Amino acid sequence: LKRLRQGLDKTRRNLVNQLRAIVGQGPLNQDAVLEIESLLLQADVGIEATDHIIESLQSRLRQEALPPAEAIAYLKQILRDMLDRPLGGSHTLSFVPEKDKLNIWLITGVNGAGKTTTIGKLAHIANKSGYRCLIAAADTFRAAAVQQVKVWGDRSQVEVIANPGKNTDPAAVVFDGIAAAQSRNTELLLVDTAGRLQNKKNLMEELSKIRRIIDKKAPDANVESLLVLDATLGQNGLRQAEVFSEVAKLSGVVLTKLDGTAKGGIALAVVQQLGLPIRFIGAGEGIEDLRPFSSYEFVEALLS
Ligand code: GDP
Repeated sequence: LKRLRQGLDKTRRNLVNQLRAIVGQGPLNQDAVLEIESLLLQADVGIEATDHIIESLQSRLRQEALPPAEAIAYLKQILRDMLDRPLGGSHTLSFVPEKDKLNIWLITGVNGAGKTTTIGKLAHIANKSGYRCLIAAADTFRAAAVQQVKVWGDRSQVEVIANPGKNTDPAAVVFDGIAAAQSRNTELLLVDTAGRLQNKKNLMEELSKIRRIIDKKAPDANVESLLVLDATLGQNGLRQAEVFSEVAKLSGVVLTKLDGTAKGGIALAVVQQLGLPIRFIGAGEGIEDLRPFSSYEFVEALLS
């Protein structure tokens, strides 16, 4: 929690003191609403989420004047409820692949978002938590990508399935990865996929081909498709996320680089606008710097 708080420091510093000052003045007048609006927009919470937050806060404050501490507590609850909504209201802190079963997690995202690093960190958590884990290096387009994944495989002590040939078909690597996983009773297969957003059609075809291979070869597996999103991109990242959610059937988001940004509010925008849960957050380059997402922790780190 301390690390996350430090990570969100920049977002928090901008947000929390000013919010305290504003809501401490009693029921929100038009000026206060405008100030909160601009604070939230600066933190890249986005227009839609900001409107929702202000409306909720306002409707409560119209009923009764709240002292600052209570107003902040209420604001926290609004944010937690928003963040938990895609998960049906429950927030989970655990690392949740189903035991004794093949779970396949497709990791998507544009190059540079932190995909490889996230895969390494996930493999590390999986290994530490006693899961049998494998990585399939299916981002075969970038020459360096497979090598990079192997470095993270070594760090996390998880084997990487890769095809040594140039320009191999990503779906073929996924096929090999599933075969290896099945013969070793692997519980979590992490699949690195290409992130060339420039060519939406190719990306879509590639991802759906991978899906077809999975459906055919491992029809009983639990499949998750996680989008790795660079939080420092703020609202631009949201547009990326929208494109990915058109081409891939996403089930959640990993928000990276929260340590380097004042745009941590993007988490709320992602959830509000795409209806996707945040599943993990990255707040550093090290192998330990990934945490399962908890709305409680996130909101506390943001507003305490
Ligand atoms: P990929 O191209 O999507 O596979 O991205 P990489 O995993 O290679 O990461 C790109 C850069 O972002 C690297 O320098 C990583 O160390 C860095 N990075 C990844 N995740 C985080 C994070 O949570 N915080 C910080 N500060 N840097 C990160």
